[in-house]
Amino acid sequence: MSARLHIVDHEKIDGHEAGTLVNRSFYLNDMPRLILLCRIFGHRPVVDGYDTTTAMARSAARWVACGRCGVRPSPQGDLDPDQWRLGQRYPGPFSDAAPPTKTDAAPAPPARPQTPGPWPTQPTVTFSGQLVIGRSTYRTLGATLKVGNDGSENALACSLRLGRLGALYLSSGDYGRRIQRRLNAGTYESRVIEVAAHDGSLWWKLWAPRDSWTKGTPRWMDGNTVLNPIDRWLGPVRYSYEDVGPKRPGRVVMPEGDVHEVTLQLQRQRKGRRRGRSVESWTVDWTSSPGIPTRNHSWKGDEVLGSGTDVSDAAVDAGRWAEEACARIAAAMSRDRSHHRWRGPSTFPQPEPEPDFDVEVS
Ligand SMILES: [Zn+2]
Repeated sequence: MSARLHIVDHEKIDGHEAGTLVNRSFYLNDMPRLILLCRIFGHRPVVDGYDTTTAMARSAARWVACGRCGVRPSPQGDLDPDQWRLGQRYPGPFSDAAPPTKTDAAPAPPARPQTPGPWPTQPTVTFSGQLVIGRSTYRTLGATLKVGNDGSENALACSLRLGRLGALYLSSGDYGRRIQRRLNAGTYESRVIEVAAHDGSLWWKLWAPRDSWTKGTPRWMDGNTVLNPIDRWLGPVRYSYEDVGPKRPGRVVMPEGDVHEVTLQLQRQRKGRRRGRSVESWTVDWTSSPGIPTRNHSWKGDEVLGSGTDVSDAAVDAGRWAEEACARIAAAMSRDRSHHRWRGPSTFPQPEPEPDFDVEVS
């Protein structure tokens, strides 16, 4: 048996993402497990499983695994939870029966207690990872180490995320099962150690349960703090809007010749922090039905149904804010059409074709 390398190029399969240079996953299959101690001394069978008791019901199972390397015999066995304690040494017996072969027909569930079978002779591991160079979907900065649980596919996993530079993710498969069993045995909740920076804050997790944050989770274990010193002292920048006067109708005339009725609402915008001065300016909130087309796709949502635009103080003073807003909306929609390479019906004047230039040679 030898290791096999399998590489997936996400740029080819999922399509190229702007700014991404490399985005590949790799899988090292059939890697031999490093169980030197167990090869010398033999496996150390212990009772493994879970126990979850709620007011409604008790769900429990027991099987056998090596307490050192985590390898399970095949079949792993199904012991009586009332008779076997989690973590208890398992003295035997083991059956010599071959592991059940996979068949199409659903096998009858084996009756308890089912005796564990023989240890696998060549346990293997799949080690996998993903490398992104350039911009990645996850634009955060941070590093994470996960210590899995007894049910995890990966005993250990880690990631390093460098924002626009790229990211690296590694998953150990069953490598590190011994470390995982030392640190986080007998649970079905992975633990995470993480430091990350995003949204102007620093976030941390220190041996935090990965999937179950509660109000009782202490802040040292799972918390965050605002990093930006100005945000800290004065509060984050916020925008607020207040309607001024009644709604007004308007008309947006696109250079291509199409005309769109819009509804306009003048608003006073305030931009400021919790403390300190705020800056005021005029904006217009606009809506259009059935919308202004900016894309050539045929599905719904090709039209822009509304947005906001700035207008000048002079426009409001002169009572011309609706006119100026419509011109600015046309400019914004024209930019959108360029961005989406829109080709629609157009009465826009086209350049005269150049007259043929004949040179007469006499
Ligand atoms: Zn072992």
